[in-house]
Amino acid sequence: MVVTYEQALSIVQDKIGSANRLPGVETVPLDQAFCRILAGDVTADRDLPPFHRAIRDGYALRAADLTVLPAVLRCVGEVAAGRNFEAEVQPGQCVSIMTGAPLPTGADAVVMVEYSVSHGDDIEIQRRVQPWENVVRRGSEAAQGARILGRGRRLQAAEIGLLASVGKAKVAVYRKPCVAILPTGDEVVPIEQPPQWFQVRNSNAAALAAQIQSAGGMPLQLGIAPDRTDRLRGMIEQGLVSDLLLLSGGVSMGKFDLVEEVLAELGAEFFFQGTAIRPGKPLVFGRVRGLFFFGLPGNPVSTYVTFELFVRPALVLLGGASFEPPVFLRARLAKPFRQKTGLTMFLPARVWTQDFDPVVEPVGWQGSGDLVGVAAANCFLLIHPEQTDLAAGEWVDVMPKGQ
Ligand code: AMP
Ligand code: MG
Repeated sequence: MVVTYEQALSIVQDKIGSANRLPGVETVPLDQAFCRILAGDVTADRDLPPFHRAIRDGYALRAADLTVLPAVLRCVGEVAAGRNFEAEVQPGQCVSIMTGAPLPTGADAVVMVEYSVSHGDDIEIQRRVQPWENVVRRGSEAAQGARILGRGRRLQAAEIGLLASVGKAKVAVYRKPCVAILPTGDEVVPIEQPPQWFQVRNSNAAALAAQIQSAGGMPLQLGIAPDRTDRLRGMIEQGLVSDLLLLSGGVSMGKFDLVEEVLAELGAEFFFQGTAIRPGKPLVFGRVRGLFFFGLPGNPVSTYVTFELFVRPALVLLGGASFEPPVFLRARLAKPFRQKTGLTMFLPARVWTQDFDPVVEPVGWQGSGDLVGVAAANCFLLIHPEQTDLAAGEWVDVMPKGQ
């Protein structure tokens, strides 16, 4: 069954979502939590910020003292970040304050130092402020006990910083799904081995391992399977211990494309066999002996793109997070584009900003084998089947290349 891009994505979401298996939980130090998935809600251990915090250098004062300008206030002290001003600021008084310092009691606003002139301890204030201006109020970002991150969140740099701010030196995350990688093909040789002129190096397994890690998975290299049913079957069986099996190559129509045949012999069910996309048309998705698998087309760009489109969201879901479909942004086409393939195309492209608009142009590339082209790209230009004749300047969908 060949399905559209949208159908394929929703099949992946349905099948993996309804399998409803949450991974086990482990506790890791925060500096090892990057790209992991939170296994429980996290609450603020104190108000954020924990005190009324000055966000400008200037004078802490009572806003009501500034009804007549310029106002002259008596400076009764100084408070820097990491310090506290013990006394209460009285009417007619101010305290010199630095960014990050707690607002002294009695004060309710900060006037920036730029709007003041000091005459010894008498400070002339030249601008009015609203109450709480230049101050972030205690608890305004999150109150103590409030949920600041929910179970299932993928931890990126901002989330790591937030966890640190509430004292989480260790964090409970889901165990990484183990993803078995099985490249196939008689022509494929290990990267350490000098290839003969008719052989290719196993670039897919290396790229896939990096993609898996960035999606929060743990790659398991099974080695290279030759185009022989018995060896292929044996190596697939070794991958059955994993949480997801990725095969590369051997899913096209050639005489030695044996992957589907061997999977069928092992009792696999196929949810789709082919998607109307380019690159990546022969993509296969199914389940064998309880294990989800993808048969990725062997061309390196096809492997890369089909991972980003389907495997990444599947893996994030298997890892305990919520489904995250690829995000498309919009840019203007730099040059006209024509196609009559009837397919959804994902072309390696570069997007840049010109006169405040994003503009996109495909990189010169030699088709689905061309990793040089993908490495030069910073996005993929998405052309829908019905977009047969696009003029320069039209708005089109763009998928950022990501990791
Ligand atoms: P296939 O999908 O098996 O027909 O392979 C399509 C193309 O991808 C062929 O030119 C293969 O040589 C190439 N290819 C297959 N597997 C890999 C791999 N692991 N690394 C790099 N290129 C590959
Ligand atoms: Mg092959």
